[in-house]
Amino acid sequence: MDLGIAGRSALVCASSKGLGRACAVSLAREGAAVTLVARGAEALEATAQDIRRETGARVLTVAADITTPAGRAAVLAVCGEPDILVTNAGGPKPGDFRDWDRDAWIAALDANMLTPIALIKATLDTMLARRFGRIVNITSAAVKAPIDILGLSNGARSGLTGFVAGLARKTVVRNVTINNLLPGPFETDRLMETARLWSRQSGKTEDVVLAERRASNPAGRFGTPAEFGDACAYLCSAQAGFITGQNLLLDGGNYPGTF
Ligand code: NAP
Repeated sequence: MDLGIAGRSALVCASSKGLGRACAVSLAREGAAVTLVARGAEALEATAQDIRRETGARVLTVAADITTPAGRAAVLAVCGEPDILVTNAGGPKPGDFRDWDRDAWIAALDANMLTPIALIKATLDTMLARRFGRIVNITSAAVKAPIDILGLSNGARSGLTGFVAGLARKTVVRNVTINNLLPGPFETDRLMETARLWSRQSGKTEDVVLAERRASNPAGRFGTPAEFGDACAYLCSAQAGFITGQNLLLDGGNYPGTF
């Protein structure tokens, strides 16, 4: 299926590794020009080279912290007025809510709620004027089924989800859709970091906790970043103009509810 986005431009945030990188790869394979963002320049350039080599797409890079106003200004100065926006940033640290002061909450809200909203604000009006826009926010399965140790993530991402639910119904009339992708467990650096925490907490080796987590998922495995990237590319496709305000859970069936 041709997704109809060849020649479109995409800003993909937090994209030198993991899920963001996979979204950029899938969009570039469809012929979109992509702007990649991450703080670490080395991994960012290596990813850009890989994507150029594999897809022949135009790939720009900005080494910046997307959660800061200065970082966002630098990114927007390079990518111009994108047709496609994929928002993403690192997730907040796990812990106990008794240990989180106001600064911890503000940092989580900045990264996982206010940064996506600022990027939407900066790019939406041009998309509306052009009558094409696709916005995908990478959130988390924790929005649908909260994870106790990830209270900062549960809270901040739910705030974004509520905001987007209202806005997405206002923009679709001009063919600008806004949707959220909710990753369950995907095999990325972030998951491996979390595995180290599970290992310390349980006294089991990382290999054992990872095997247990894989086995406890109905799919018997973790998701692959490529599966996530292709779902993102579909939501950004020309064909997906009637899908807006949705929260698409990619978790191998882990969430047990009927809806
Ligand atoms: P990852 O493999 O650790 O990759 C994170 C990427 O984001 C890297 O390229 C990193 O590069 C970049 N990044 C992080 N903070 C940034 C910032 N402030 N500004 C710019 N770039 C930044 O993580 P992932 O697994 O892809 O996770 C992506 C998001 O999905 C996270 O919010 C995570 O919490 C959420 N999530 C993941 C899973 C999972 O199973 N993987 C499940 C649920 C939710 P630099 O460090 O160089 O900046």
